Amino acid sequence: MRDFTLKIYIQLISNFKNHNYKFQTIEKYLIEPSAKVLILRHDVDKRPVNSLVFAELENNLNVKSTYYFRLTKDSFNEEIIKKIVKLGHEIGYHYEDLALAKGDFEKAIYSFKKNLGILRKYYPVKTVCMHGSPLSAWNNIKLWEKYKLEEFGIIGEPYISSEFKEFFYLTDTGRKWNNNKFNFRDKINSGYNINICDSRDISGNLMKNKLPDKIIISTHPQRWDNNYFKWTQEFVYQNIKNIIKYFISSRKIDV
Ligand SMILES: [Zn+2]
Repeated sequence: MRDFTLKIYIQLISNFKNHNYKFQTIEKYLIEPSAKVLILRHDVDKRPVNSLVFAELENNLNVKSTYYFRLTKDSFNEEIIKKIVKLGHEIGYHYEDLALAKGDFEKAIYSFKKNLGILRKYYPVKTVCMHGSPLSAWNNIKLWEKYKLEEFGIIGEPYISSEFKEFFYLTDTGRKWNNNKFNFRDKINSGYNINICDSRDISGNLMKNKLPDKIIISTHPQRWDNNYFKWTQEFVYQNIKNIIKYFISSRKIDV
């Protein structure tokens, strides 16, 4: 069976729901943390339409998640952001200002503030998450060695906030889960030693009650199977919601 398809994603969410995990956004968790929680974090590096499909699909399954947008033309899309906000998900800033400013802290914090302001036209952004910028010598997270997140009304950053240290992290890299070979900066060392390669391993461990109560699944929707996404691209500005409902209910194609 192919992995990293929408069908697999639907199954994963359903399995966690059946095991009584509460779905919270990063923001919600920081405000009122649940004891047994699954956080779905999405980094919208590019192809934002894929994230819209994820957002609609989650909405159909009655769960809320967090979408971190970059301000680049590959990621930022006003219409898509508005639609994701309307579905009740959280929007945050996937910042890369220090890398883009080539290590100039003043320039970087100026553009961070400006970009945050742009995103806040659509959503009262409370959390941000660094972009890995694998090709850059500068690590975006270092911005916070000089400045403070709170000064910008930010309550959390998944790579910094201590609240997330106790979480078990699952991240989609190179079409595998937790593939450290491809993870450069996008990784968090949690203390868990649970071997997971494909999505079936996640569900298998879940069935055997081997997964911890606090989990973050971090995905990049542009990395997921693209056949279906290419097709839906045409329908972004039409009623994508009904199309997705149709596919979920009919299961006629391999989503
Ligand atoms: Zn990223």
